[in-house]
Amino acid sequence: MSLIEARGLEKRFSTGSGVAARFFSDDVVHAVDGVDLDIGSGQTMGLVGESGCGKSTLGNLLLRIHDPTAGTVRFDGTEITGLSDRELGPYRSKMQIVFQNPRNSLNPKHTVGKILRKAIRFHDVASGADAASLAERCLEDVGLRPEHTDRYPHEFSGGQQQRIAIARALSVKPEFIVLDEPVSALDVSVQSKILGLIDDLKAEYDLTLLFITHDLNVVRRVCDEVSVMYLGEIVENALTTELFDDPYHPYTQALFDSITLPEPGELDRGGGIQGEIPSPIDPPSGCRFRTRCPMAMPECEEVNPELVERERGATDGARHTACHLYDTAEDGPDEKRAVDRLG
Ligand code: SF4
Repeated sequence: MSLIEARGLEKRFSTGSGVAARFFSDDVVHAVDGVDLDIGSGQTMGLVGESGCGKSTLGNLLLRIHDPTAGTVRFDGTEITGLSDRELGPYRSKMQIVFQNPRNSLNPKHTVGKILRKAIRFHDVASGADAASLAERCLEDVGLRPEHTDRYPHEFSGGQQQRIAIARALSVKPEFIVLDEPVSALDVSVQSKILGLIDDLKAEYDLTLLFITHDLNVVRRVCDEVSVMYLGEIVENALTTELFDDPYHPYTQALFDSITLPEPGELDRGGGIQGEIPSPIDPPSGCRFRTRCPMAMPECEEVNPELVERERGATDGARHTACHLYDTAEDGPDEKRAVDRLG
């Protein structure tokens, strides 16, 4: 069963504001466009794509940090998109976020204990001595000691600060956490420890996670399923093992090639992504990837392919891909067509 369900989710930002916007036509950024996404209870969904493709905006929409321009989000079956701030209150503690840079997300004027106790009390999880002991327990769960409650964020290393940010998120008893590039600002050795910690805590706290990252090695290590995003749209979704074994979409293939060298005997698909990502203010007609796609066909300019189920995976996950290469096979999905064109 899905804990998070998004349907037709859309977010457009106007680049103009204030007085200027009343006199000049302003541009519209298509940050997220028509996204459907399901995250199963207890699952870790990876969300990957180049910088600026809309990953963080999508995470913020799921948490109602941003309000969508169109579409809906359901949390555990309840549509939260139209709830007022007061109605949304009980859901705020169930849905948390951990940001890339903990230094910016921890109040430097407060001790670590106060940061956690404040969050616990704000969300009505506990008060008084109970809030203090819950804060200490969460700090212990992320590998810090109770005496750390009296120290300030600047007294900790980057890795420890991210542990504190994770402890704060855990302290309000969430069911769903968006991790927005949680290890990309950390040293590689620290990254590994934080990833191991997240894995342990997911089981211990029975969490559902959305892991936003541009690092496919991180995805392979911690995610059950992966959604690939390009210019505001999901272009492919599959179980992690299946996507890494056999990426269908040309963008997914290029993304993989941009960070990994082919194994001996493996098809070299041509060395990664070509060209610059187009502006989300004026995305290409038809398939948004067509200006960089080595397999673009005339129909790709006319019609934007829908994200549709291509086949059942070897396990129980469905493969969804948005690409015309897989549209025309009469007897089911035909991944060979893409490979033949590449070879
Ligand atoms: Fe490339 Fe066409 Fe597929 Fe888009 S629809 S990824 S342009 S082949």
